[in-house]
Amino acid sequence: MVPVNDFRETLRGTLVQPHDKGYHEARAVWNGTIDRHPAVITKCAGTADVIAAVKFAREHDLEIAVRGGGHNVAGTAVCDDGIVIDLSEMRAVWVDPRARTARVQGGSLWSDVDHETQAHSLATTGGIVSHTGVAGLTLGGGIGWLMRKHGLTADNLLSADVVTADGEFIRASDDEHSDLFWALRGGGGNFGIVTSFEFALHSVGSTVLAGPMFWAANDTADVLRFYRDFARDAPDELGTVIRFGTIPPLSAVPEELHWRSAVAINACYAGPVDEGERVLRPLRGHGTPLLDLVSPKPYLAHQGGLDSTVLHGWHYYWKSTDLPELSDDLIDVFVDHAFSAESPRSYSVLFHLGGAVSRVDDDATAYTGRNSPHNININGVWRLDEEERYAESETTWTRRFFDALEPHREGVYVNFLDADDGTQRVRESYGEYTYRRLAEIKTEYDPHNVFHLNQNIEPTV
Ligand SMILES: Cc1cc2nc3c(=O)[nH]c(=O)nc-3n(C[C@H](O)[C@H](O)[C@H](O)COP(=O)(O)OP(=O)(O)OC[C@H]3O[C@@H](n4cnc5c(N)ncnc54)[C@H](O)[C@@H]3O)c2cc1C
Repeated sequence: MVPVNDFRETLRGTLVQPHDKGYHEARAVWNGTIDRHPAVITKCAGTADVIAAVKFAREHDLEIAVRGGGHNVAGTAVCDDGIVIDLSEMRAVWVDPRARTARVQGGSLWSDVDHETQAHSLATTGGIVSHTGVAGLTLGGGIGWLMRKHGLTADNLLSADVVTADGEFIRASDDEHSDLFWALRGGGGNFGIVTSFEFALHSVGSTVLAGPMFWAANDTADVLRFYRDFARDAPDELGTVIRFGTIPPLSAVPEELHWRSAVAINACYAGPVDEGERVLRPLRGHGTPLLDLVSPKPYLAHQGGLDSTVLHGWHYYWKSTDLPELSDDLIDVFVDHAFSAESPRSYSVLFHLGGAVSRVDDDATAYTGRNSPHNININGVWRLDEEERYAESETTWTRRFFDALEPHREGVYVNFLDADDGTQRVRESYGEYTYRRLAEIKTEYDPHNVFHLNQNIEPTV
């Protein structure tokens, strides 16, 4: 048993231990396949609690897991036996509309940020599912609807407040601890616990032209060939994500289309609606869409539009890779594999990068992969009560699809790595040069690898 009484006294937040009510809810993360039992969960109320928790963990030699939104598919936000430093109750967001900046606490979700920034018709690039955590997403890079116009989430980071492995509080920005600031923009949770982020915001208005268009799965090759040319010339304002899978039973979808296999191009135009209508017209007019749900809508509604398709507690298995332009051979792989999952919840998503993401110098941040036009995330999905029926088939489907992409693979986005991807893929995700630079900074800020439950960068000593 870890002696927590004195520690508890030092906290403004709460401690949860295995015998406490709420322990099982507190240890659960987004991916229901993760089932770990920490000795202590510290629900921090503020930075002082984070500092106290790091010091306590070091004193008692406890393994540390850090929790932001709890979304990481590999389940790195929770550990067995050690301590979870849980920031999920630190979700305040302060917007300065004049300066167009927001300060965001380290346990915030994207829905928190969008809610506060949209009160001023502002936004910054966030994830495409609004219950994802700001912290993990930003620290890995951050891709989303607005990235082609406004860059990665990490490109919009102005400063970060960090509690180091020694329990010290520092601020990292271009002017202070600039090496650490470089590493935080892509290097993940390796360097300290971020208690707040400061972001640049942009005027996006409160209404965007956005939504999905669906075509029958049989039309995939034709749709992707058309999309390849369309996307190449698309303005930065247009963010698109292709989803291969079944049509979710959302209220806006006619019942006869529920669960039907389809290729969906989901779009968000970060500019005037009439301009977006013009840009999207050729795509919307292509072939015979089953359904077109593109319309002017609140940005907030679009940001939350996919939330119910990836619920907390379902079981997930992922594989991901960056990809080049859509060659005919690559399109054949999608046609052969994208629709052969057995679970109707399994899907894959192909992001269109480029634009502002690719215009930032490769070595300006630790994020790697700026020159890849696409990345794909293949997601095997099933519910707990479907474990026997789907766990094996969906894992196999995910791996087979991923293996078939082998000749086309470029790199991988670190935030999409699953638990079995291993250290080699972390290195692959950064490339030798960036990995080495990250390892040097890790050695400076966390030489004993206190923060190792993550996509780990090993210190050089
Ligand atoms: C449904 C879904 C949709 C997604 N969509 C996108 C997307 O559109 N774009 C995108 O870029 N990514 C996306 N992701 C991936 C996402 O970026 C990662 O899963 C990310 O790790 C989530 O962050 P989190 O804070 O919720 O994670 P957590 O599981 O809480 O944490 C993951 C790791 O991040 C680190 N960490 C967390 N909080 C802190 C902190 N305060 N300080 C320091 N380190 C911390 C720790 O190392 C921790 O192990 C998506 C994930 C899911 C599950």
